[in-house]
Amino acid sequence: MESSPGCWAAFGEVLEREYSDPVYFEIHRLTVDSYAAQHPGQPSPQCIRSVGYHLIRICLLLERGLEMETSNDAMLQVTKHKREFTWLTPPALPGLVTIADVHRAENAEEHKRVVRAWASAVWDAWSSHHNTIYGWIDRIDGLR
Ligand SMILES: [Zn+2]
Repeated sequence: MESSPGCWAAFGEVLEREYSDPVYFEIHRLTVDSYAAQHPGQPSPQCIRSVGYHLIRICLLLERGLEMETSNDAMLQVTKHKREFTWLTPPALPGLVTIADVHRAENAEEHKRVVRAWASAVWDAWSSHHNTIYGWIDRIDGLR
């Protein structure tokens, strides 16, 4: 992941909030997914696996009705296929919602609403790769 110092600091504070309050924590996975997908880094093996993994989880959570609490088994399957992912050229525009918007949220309800909007904006930003990601999902047992 690559990010500006201010951006990384905001991410750290948002994570602290989520770790210290179970209501905030309910949305934690989607926060990590959105941040990772919005900071894809360079085409190294580690970044390729990270971007693929997090975009798949965003897709499963937003489009396929996967429940946050029960996503661990599905994501374990995804982990087994990480080596098959290829580099997806990041979108020129990373999405209009960022960690700064989440950081500004004043209560848990707003926090969760903004994280969902953020994930949705990030997912839309990667729209030219949706078909590739659907293809990966189709090849992983237990995800269809
Ligand atoms: Zn950033």
